[in-house]
Amino acid sequence: MSNPTDKAVEEFMSGLIHRNPAEEEFHQAVREVVQSVMPVVLDKKAYQDAQILERMTEPDRIVIFRVTWETDDGQLRANRAWRVQFNNAIGPYKGGLRFHPSVTQSILKFLGFEQVFKNSLTGLPMGGAKGGSNFNPKGKSEREVMRFCQSRMTELHRHSGKDTDIPAGDIGVGAREISYLFGQFKRLENGFTGVLTGKGLEFGGSLLRKEATGYGCVYFCENMFKHIDDSIEGKSVSISGSGNVAIYAAEKAIELGAKVVTLSDSGGFIYDQDGSDQDKLAFVKDLKEGKRGRISEYADKYSGAEFHAGQRPWGVPVDVALPCATQNEISVDEAQTLLDNGVKAVGEGANMPTVLDGAHLFTDAGILYGPAKAANAGGVAVSGLEQSQNSARLSWSREEVDERLQDIMKNIHERCVEFGETKDGMNYVNGSNVGGFIKVADAMLAHGAV
Ligand code: NDP
Repeated sequence: MSNPTDKAVEEFMSGLIHRNPAEEEFHQAVREVVQSVMPVVLDKKAYQDAQILERMTEPDRIVIFRVTWETDDGQLRANRAWRVQFNNAIGPYKGGLRFHPSVTQSILKFLGFEQVFKNSLTGLPMGGAKGGSNFNPKGKSEREVMRFCQSRMTELHRHSGKDTDIPAGDIGVGAREISYLFGQFKRLENGFTGVLTGKGLEFGGSLLRKEATGYGCVYFCENMFKHIDDSIEGKSVSISGSGNVAIYAAEKAIELGAKVVTLSDSGGFIYDQDGSDQDKLAFVKDLKEGKRGRISEYADKYSGAEFHAGQRPWGVPVDVALPCATQNEISVDEAQTLLDNGVKAVGEGANMPTVLDGAHLFTDAGILYGPAKAANAGGVAVSGLEQSQNSARLSWSREEVDERLQDIMKNIHERCVEFGETKDGMNYVNGSNVGGFIKVADAMLAHGAV
């Protein structure tokens, strides 16, 4: 290991792994960032003297608590819940809540860490946080979900506030859960403030918030294509997931003239060789947002579509892949398969959906690879706009929010180019990591030893 940057990365990572044993997702997320920003840190003594990298990889605090709730038949259940307040150097903590049985502290630390950089990239004054619980909303009744959310907020409200920490949705936390959480916050605080984002339109939500992550991801891809004088129009697209991000990524891709051929859930994926359209998507929205059904029902309804049980969609040859389900859902082999099949662009709607070596394959191949921090920042950006509307006590039109979202995604793309383009080509991973890092690091330097 003769290269001083590689040596510094390995030294830093061995300390981090020692301090945070068995947190593999967190190690992975930090390693990806440190590989990009180490040259910048080695170049600036002030960052080294202030231990900026060590401080940025240590959350400001982690709150862990028990959530006790009652089932419909009167039994008590207890789940574990967390809020990881990672960094508030440039604004109040902001980041989603995830309810899924797979949630661990490592997953929430990786998500909170990434959120710091993502929020910085949006240009809005937002720090980074993430929270969640190992509670599984699937199979629970409406009232059980309500009781869980109320019990969770009974603790969480102590750590939340419009100038302190503003949670939002993520996997397993949609409009229904945010509404129950907000109702309980309002009751406990006796105050109506914009303390959660993703709220219903009737009580302070923003138009286009639910569409924002998926739309933003496609806008980011379109910016990447424009940079090489191309467009997403006419391209074939595979999408994983059929939740909030996936549905609206599909909607925008179809609107811009692309052909969306896959969607998935944890049961498998559907391949629709004719391409999905807005009518078929309306069926998926109803299935997923209303009936909480399975994606296999798409293939039951549309005869041109096939369902592949227990598989992910990355074996289907496409021009553009949009992973929109969960972390580490593209393995090294799947990344290689996508490349072998001629993929031109990958836009990450989900957080850290590609394993680190798979991400290196995409970067080395020189395809348009939009990493999550940049490509899925549209959701938190519109959350930031929801807070602005709440503070000003007004509501912007759908067109106004969409225009701002498009501007933000364009600006994020420009910041990636500013920090990621070299004579060897464009590297969006370095661009987003360094672009997000500098603003937070400089704010921390300015604040002194806090
Ligand atoms: P949803 O809960 O709405 O949907 C998640 C989708 O992914 C579902 O189709 C789900 O299938 C599937 N999925 C989840 N876990 C797995 C798994 N382990 N294996 C296979 N499929 C899985 O979540 P979102 O759409 O909100 O979030 C998706 C991703 O986007 C996450 O990585 C999230 O962090 C990220 N993200 C979300 C933002 C937002 O605004 N919502 C903002 C930025 C990023 P099933 O129903 O079978 O579980």
